[in-house]
Amino acid sequence: MTQRLTTPLVVLFALFATACTDGWSRHERELINTAAYSRMRVSTVTTPSDSLLLRTPSAALTEKEVGSIEFGRLIASMIETVNDPENSGVGIAAPQVGILRRIIVVQRVDKAGCPFEVYVNPEIVEHSATMQTGGEGCLSVPNLSGVVERHESIRLRWRDAVTFELREETIEGFTAVIFQHEIDHLNGILYTDRAERLTKE
Ligand code: ZN
Repeated sequence: MTQRLTTPLVVLFALFATACTDGWSRHERELINTAAYSRMRVSTVTTPSDSLLLRTPSAALTEKEVGSIEFGRLIASMIETVNDPENSGVGIAAPQVGILRRIIVVQRVDKAGCPFEVYVNPEIVEHSATMQTGGEGCLSVPNLSGVVERHESIRLRWRDAVTFELREETIEGFTAVIFQHEIDHLNGILYTDRAERLTKE
């Protein structure tokens, strides 16, 4: 009797365990659901534990994760965070709000109305040999700016934030700089690693 009951229970437990481990971690869920569509705390290099997190490469998202309520909450919170009137930016990456996942929000300054757009699992698949040099700052590196050399144009590939379909686009100029800066965050790289000159503000 015991033996006969145990088998289905074990199967059920295994299914339950799989459902819980597939997708967002408990820590990620807590962070995302606490913010629940509102501004999140920005990790900065001035805090040792944040500094370690900012240096850690992020994990790609699955289609199931992109379709989850947590994803919707997280991207809404990231947009709120990058639009903080007291500390605003033109882009933000998920590690900057404590989530080590490959999501970036970029202000498309090359589009009418300069909308903030979400890019999942973004990667640069090609880039120009020609470079451009410009000033950069970062929400995670307070009171500092620097001069950084970046590729003039990039070929970007990413997953659509709604349909999860693969997309590609060639991006140039300052918008290409924002993408290179944000994708660096997903690989634990900060603009200060690439800067020719850094200036205290
Ligand atoms: Zn940054």
